[in-house]
Amino acid sequence: MLDDTITATSFTPDASGGALPSRAEVVIVGGGVIGSSIAYHLAGLGFNDVLLLERARIASGTSWHAAGLVARVRGSHPMTELANYGVDLYRGLADETGIDVHFRPTGSLTLAENDGRMTELRYAGAIARHHGTEAYLLEPSAIPEVWPLISTEGLVGALLQPGDGTVNPGYAALALAKGAHDRGVTIREGVPVSRLLTADGAVTGVRSDRGDIEAGTVVLACGLWTRDLAATVGVPVPLYAAEHVHVSTEPIEGAHDLLPLVRGLDGSFYARHHAGGLMIGAFEPNGRPRSTDSIPDAWAFGEFGPDWQHFAQTRANATRRIPSLQEAEFTRYLRAPESFTPDVNFCLGEAAEIRNLYVAAGFNSQGIIYGPGAGRALAEWIREGAPTFDASEVDVRRFARTQSNARYLHERTKEALGRLYAMHWPGLQAVTARDVRRSPLYERLASAGACFGELAQWERANWFAPPGVEPVDRYSFGRQNWFPHAAEEHTAAREAVALFDLTSFAKIEMTGRDALRLLQHVCTNDVDVPVGKVVYTLFLNGRGGIENDGTVTRLGEDRYLVITPTATQHRTLEWLRSHGRGMSVSAADVTSAAATLAVMGPRSRELLSRLTSTDLSNEAFPFFTSKEIQVGNAPALAIRASFVGELGWELYVPSEFAVHVYDAVVDAGADLGLRHAGYQALDSLRIEKGFVHIGHDVGPTDDPCTAGLGHVVTLDKEFIGVEAARAAKEAPRPRRLVSLRLEEPEPVLLHGESVISDGRIVGAVMSGAYGHTLGAAAGLAMVETSVISDEESTVQVDLAGAMVKATISRQAFYDPSGSRMRA
Ligand SMILES: Cc1cc2nc3c(=O)[nH]c(=O)nc-3n(C[C@H](O)[C@H](O)[C@H](O)COP(=O)(O)OP(=O)(O)OC[C@H]3O[C@@H](n4cnc5c(N)ncnc54)[C@H](O)[C@@H]3O)c2cc1C
Repeated sequence: MLDDTITATSFTPDASGGALPSRAEVVIVGGGVIGSSIAYHLAGLGFNDVLLLERARIASGTSWHAAGLVARVRGSHPMTELANYGVDLYRGLADETGIDVHFRPTGSLTLAENDGRMTELRYAGAIARHHGTEAYLLEPSAIPEVWPLISTEGLVGALLQPGDGTVNPGYAALALAKGAHDRGVTIREGVPVSRLLTADGAVTGVRSDRGDIEAGTVVLACGLWTRDLAATVGVPVPLYAAEHVHVSTEPIEGAHDLLPLVRGLDGSFYARHHAGGLMIGAFEPNGRPRSTDSIPDAWAFGEFGPDWQHFAQTRANATRRIPSLQEAEFTRYLRAPESFTPDVNFCLGEAAEIRNLYVAAGFNSQGIIYGPGAGRALAEWIREGAPTFDASEVDVRRFARTQSNARYLHERTKEALGRLYAMHWPGLQAVTARDVRRSPLYERLASAGACFGELAQWERANWFAPPGVEPVDRYSFGRQNWFPHAAEEHTAAREAVALFDLTSFAKIEMTGRDALRLLQHVCTNDVDVPVGKVVYTLFLNGRGGIENDGTVTRLGEDRYLVITPTATQHRTLEWLRSHGRGMSVSAADVTSAAATLAVMGPRSRELLSRLTSTDLSNEAFPFFTSKEIQVGNAPALAIRASFVGELGWELYVPSEFAVHVYDAVVDAGADLGLRHAGYQALDSLRIEKGFVHIGHDVGPTDDPCTAGLGHVVTLDKEFIGVEAARAAKEAPRPRRLVSLRLEEPEPVLLHGESVISDGRIVGAVMSGAYGHTLGAAAGLAMVETSVISDEESTVQVDLAGAMVKATISRQAFYDPSGSRMRA
């Protein structure tokens, strides 16, 4: 807590222990900055029966002791929008609530000690430009003008962001609670919630030591305690606490309350003014996880006490950069817990398992930054029953259920804290808690030179190192070391044949009398098709936004196989289960039962014909159909489909036969130019072909036509979101997803780059890769429809400050008619 002590607050909403209502429309559990913000925004949206329950005092969990740094620019556009809103809200909160949150518009200065970091800052500058936020790159010589106490030795530059600042975090939480209270929210402190009450798959209320409270909606905003409470009703919220530290000095000459906060990212520290001195905070790479068992139950305004030894390296780094710290006396050591998630993004939204139970937790040391934005977003989500912003990267349902394992989280959390300040390389992989979830082909792929990346705990081959090359990623913002190898994999898929291990695909088998009825209800496409037919479909939310996509294969009269992307396993299963409630249908997760080997490329037919007696000709086995076949000595469900835009089959092989089929395919393909291929090649192939990746290119606020996927929506049947989809089809469309190709062969695209037309920002690249067939970087971009024409149009792309000419088109640049995969 800064500047003051929170216990001397001017706002005590329930000091006398007011009566507890027996019912509320919405109950929020937890009165930190997040719960208070949700209450404030719900009341702002007109909810007039909201109850916030805090087991101790407002802000007494983690919020009171934050360092109070607030920033506008984050790593992605949706997160930047949330953060930007936060700074603006804090700025005016004192006037509105009467509680001074000590907002100081100090600005921030982020330092770069190497070229990679400087490039990262250039990308941050480009995001700032996109959002109209001030950001200036500084030469080392200009830094002392802004921060006289800094040694510029070894610095290559800095980014000055005048719009950033600091707040007193405890008062920020308190002001939001006061604002909520003023708007009619009932706040009760000293009320611990011990249980969540549920019936028929929906939340019905909470149990506290002062009685049960019925509720239509419950929000868990209990900070690091959220995982434990959610787990009592089977909801996974993979977050875990770690110690977090800041220390403060006696007054230092030159420190004042408008000194920009400094981020010494390469030294894992930050510095800000505090009471005439400096506060130094640590984002050390060797973080220390803490189980909730190790944090006392009565943890209000708690801290763990000093540990100078653990802080020594950060102190040395900070002192090297700010020499006056050498002589400074440190007067305060704050060590306290904060919660972190496996991918260091927070958890927001409705739980997949229990209707009307919402989560807002796991803020990875950014809860003060995101508090206002996340609170507003969740309030809107509750009102609309679906997100009103692109929530893909923070949606609580993005994880595998297995990621809630405490031991796994403990291990992963060691690196979580440091990840915030570590280099944000494109494609950066976690190094802890790896090799947990492997395909049956893992060892074979490793022997073939696979370099693995992780998604939802799965180890997936990203690329294959040829003999003599180490299968290790060497990160950069340009072409990384795997570029030439992925290029060869890409070319093999286009010109010969490539083998991908896609075992991590989520696979759900639907069986029962109502299987068709349920699938017609959740799918945009018509799945009442002959047995053996494969259908590509979207799954929409009630607002007509795209929640998910996948293929649905009819295996029998009452039997379907639903296949969706890796990261959606958990949400697909629960989505089907919850919408099938009361129907005669079972949804079984068969993801682990089968490996998926994708044999893709113009010679795939020739290869597979060597291993099966099934006629694979176009007439006998057309595109988007499936058959049970024998491959070598093993059974497989063969689906003729393609995510790469070429002729190919996905083989769903019972796990115990997977290695046999793999060996047979590798042997049979040796003289056909078969190559192993990984996800880097898969991405470049699909982007050239214009295939959309839900969650990257489009999300829950995009309608199918905006995504260019109107053709997989059957508007004359009834399904979730159909009315909104019908309306969206007729409404003017402000933006649309298009294919984009750079007109220079050298640069690469990452994601998020601004698209510019006539000097105006008209959109952003959603995903990018190098199009090895096109000979230039390619992407999918969401742009204003006003700049799209029937032909190709010319735009520019802001590559971290370098403007590069590009072409956009509604059509894919590679094989727009799809004739190659139907060959
Ligand atoms: C040292 C440090 C520095 C930080 N600096 C920054 C910073 O500069 N900028 C930034 O953005 N973030 C910072 N953070 C992170 C930020 O403090 C947190 O992300 C944020 O406070 C989380 O807010 P919350 O509301 O989720 O959690 P909390 O503040 O912990 O609130 C959760 C509340 O739920 C209550 N609760 C729990 N269980 C129950 C129950 N069963 N019944 C009723 N009530 C319950 C708790 O008592 C608690 O008050 C920092 C964190 C630390 C530790």
